[in-house]
Amino acid sequence: RAAGFPARKAIEEFNFDHQPALKRDTLAHLGTAQFISKAQNVVLLGPPGTGKTHLSIGLGIAAAHHGHRVLFATAVEWVTRLQTAHQHGRLAAELAKLRRYGLLIVDEVGYIPFEQDAANLFFQLVSSRYEHASLVLTSNLPFSRWGDVFSDHVVAAAMIDRIVHHADVLTLKGNSYRLRNTEIDTLPS
Ligand code: ADP
Ligand code: MG
Repeated sequence: RAAGFPARKAIEEFNFDHQPALKRDTLAHLGTAQFISKAQNVVLLGPPGTGKTHLSIGLGIAAAHHGHRVLFATAVEWVTRLQTAHQHGRLAAELAKLRRYGLLIVDEVGYIPFEQDAANLFFQLVSSRYEHASLVLTSNLPFSRWGDVFSDHVVAAAMIDRIVHHADVLTLKGNSYRLRNTEIDTLPS
């Protein structure tokens, strides 16, 4: 797919009974894509299998339906793309090009830690979009642990500050939906 979605998932296919803390109305509102017109962000936090990627794709598809340009990639893929641009002396041009996309989805912040250089490139991506264009980010880690991911607590704090200044932060909870019908989540505690 042009936008790079790894699967086709819709907000309407999401089972909200499995995420009682998450309001259907909140997602319905985000699905109107107004947050993109306002250059706001969405952060989806929670353990593996709780639907972060599903909802990020759903928001991306909804945004595309509303006429916004959308690109999906993992955090590692975004950094790789920026490293390539940087090596060719066209980082600024790449960031400017990406700003023409109303929404970039950054999946899986936190699964793989970044070295200082990668962390700095990621910070530049966040900075370049701040109050200009939207990000949807997903992470298995709370913000308090992003300092470890970016191997620099000062850079992580500056990044989080820009991300959450205009953002909805949604926290998903519970067991993996992937394992919902297996014995793993029905074991007696
Ligand atoms: P995460 O990115 O949080 O690890 P995913 O979004 O990849 O989790 O979800 C894992 C699988 O379970 C996907 O196939 C997704 O569509 C499905 N899934 C997760 N949560 C729900 C839910 N509440 N309702 C419907 N499907 C869900
Ligand atoms: Mg995921």
